[in-house]
Amino acid sequence: MASLTGKTAFVTAAGQGIGRATALAFAAAGAQVIATDVDTAKLAGLESGQIRTAPLNVLDADAIKRAAEAAGTVDILFNCAGFVHQGTLLEATEDEWAFAFDLNCRSMFRTMQAFLPGMLKRGRGVILNMASVASSLKGVPNRFIYSATKAAVVGMTRSVATDYVVRGIRCNCLCPGTVQTPSLDERIEANASGAGSASAARAAFVARQPMGRLGTPEEIAGLAVYLAGDDARFITGQSIVIDGGLTL
Ligand code: NAD
Repeated sequence: MASLTGKTAFVTAAGQGIGRATALAFAAAGAQVIATDVDTAKLAGLESGQIRTAPLNVLDADAIKRAAEAAGTVDILFNCAGFVHQGTLLEATEDEWAFAFDLNCRSMFRTMQAFLPGMLKRGRGVILNMASVASSLKGVPNRFIYSATKAAVVGMTRSVATDYVVRGIRCNCLCPGTVQTPSLDERIEANASGAGSASAARAAFVARQPMGRLGTPEEIAGLAVYLAGDDARFITGQSIVIDGGLTL
């Protein structure tokens, strides 16, 4: 595994799922980690010599500024917070659209704007943004708003990578297929009546994956560690697909 010894990482939505697995993997690779989440109860059990936890609602612009000031300059910013809206164009509402873009995109605009100046002063830094294959990369059924937000993440990532490539900043986004996390279980429950049962709804998610299984948060975390580390120093502006073959 790549070494992150001597580096400091800031992670949003670290309470569960991919964010939590990544906070743990960053620490296992040697980084000092600031693990944040809006739901502080979910951060329980993460604190260690290498992981400090802190509340952060990424919908709150002032809270982001305060969190960045408290964290000081970091080497790695992992924007993991996001919400999966299910539904088609004709089912989408204005409120859902606004909420999704606030949580999945505006939050990243704000965190990147808050942390980038410190990285630029030092002439180095890595930003990782959580996108998805459901974005500009692949059409996925019932993901109208979600895909729009994650395509915007792909665009923001390339833009930031382009503007700061000569100043020591790398910015990439991760594009997972379906990953077994607590919110996936909620989506399976929500789809259970339409699919006939929860197990049929789960089977439909698995059937999309040519490898015949869902991803694990730890597999996505391993990619984040690699992209955050110096072994990935020639990679920027990319949308890295990790999807069990979903986009094949
Ligand atoms: P999850 O959805 O199970 O958990 C999300 C976490 O985000 C929770 O701990 C929650 O408390 C936190 N959160 C919610 N609102 C927040 C806010 N306003 N501020 C701070 N934290 C907040 O986790 P997951 O499924 O691993 O998803 C994490 C990211 O990965 C999301 O951006 C999601 O879109 C993306 N993603 C997930 C999958 C998947 O199949 N699970 C696939 C591709 C991309």
